[in-house]
Amino acid sequence: MLLDAQWIKQTALALGFDACGLAEAAPIPRSQWDLQEWLAEGRHADMHYMEEHVAKRYDPTLLVPGAKTVISVLLGYRPSALMEGAVKIAQYAYGEDYHERLKGLLYRLLSALGDRYPELQGRPFVDTAPISDKYWAVRAGLGWRGRNTLLVNPTLGSYCFIGELVVTLAADAYDTPLPDGCGTCERCLKACPNHAIVPSPLPAVGTQVDARRCASYHTIENRAEALPPEVKLSGYAFGCDCCQLVCPYNLQAEIRYHLTPERQEQLQNLQDADEKTFKHATKHSPLNRIKYPQWLRNLGR
Ligand code: SF4
Ligand code: SF4
Repeated sequence: MLLDAQWIKQTALALGFDACGLAEAAPIPRSQWDLQEWLAEGRHADMHYMEEHVAKRYDPTLLVPGAKTVISVLLGYRPSALMEGAVKIAQYAYGEDYHERLKGLLYRLLSALGDRYPELQGRPFVDTAPISDKYWAVRAGLGWRGRNTLLVNPTLGSYCFIGELVVTLAADAYDTPLPDGCGTCERCLKACPNHAIVPSPLPAVGTQVDARRCASYHTIENRAEALPPEVKLSGYAFGCDCCQLVCPYNLQAEIRYHLTPERQEQLQNLQDADEKTFKHATKHSPLNRIKYPQWLRNLGR
């Protein structure tokens, strides 16, 4: 039995996803993804977990035996306003932890698929397993890999979370990748204060981010007591949106998160928060990824 691609997309949208597409599960051609080159150049900094499970990262059939289809989904997160105040936080972290919402919706989609196709096996993925979200979203026709190295969707811009269901049935139709929409634009390259977006060794891929220079990496992933003084944070204490704020697709992206005055105030007050207040305000948020000493370090204290 083949999966009804149209029914899956309609079901996904009805559940609350902003976009859904399907791709045939198969190993990623080496020329299409530059993970190994990125690792070889040391551009993953000390994210050594990226060196693990490389074969699985290139092949979803090693993650889900018998995998035939990757169902890729997006949730937009562009907020209704930018946070005001001296300290900046990446927009994706304004709201609740997206892992929980995305995973919950993916399980509901998997359950709906299971009801219709009892023989189907599948597994949801949200940022926590070795799978290339961006590659599969591109293959599923949900956007293209922008020069900022993020997925760019025509209506959500790069302000979107990505998840997948890898399932064991083939579909009656697969999507085709969209044409590259960056054209001659280089706004993101020019906006990066650290020149962290660099050419990829693989011409078909375009660009890579060198995490060793990236403020987003340093404010979130770097656990060292002090940050390299040459890395410019541009006022960010968590993440960095400099290469996203300038993207023309993001300037016209759909608003998908309402930043309430209460949440705005809570975020602004974080710059003077003690440890207890920080923990309380960040409990169910992506900000929870860093500890209070990292927060103080990022604030320059
Ligand atoms: S997140 Fe910031 S530092 Fe990193 S590549 Fe984008 S603009 Fe550059
Ligand atoms: S800023 Fe321009 S080059 Fe960069 S991702 Fe957006 S459209 Fe592409």
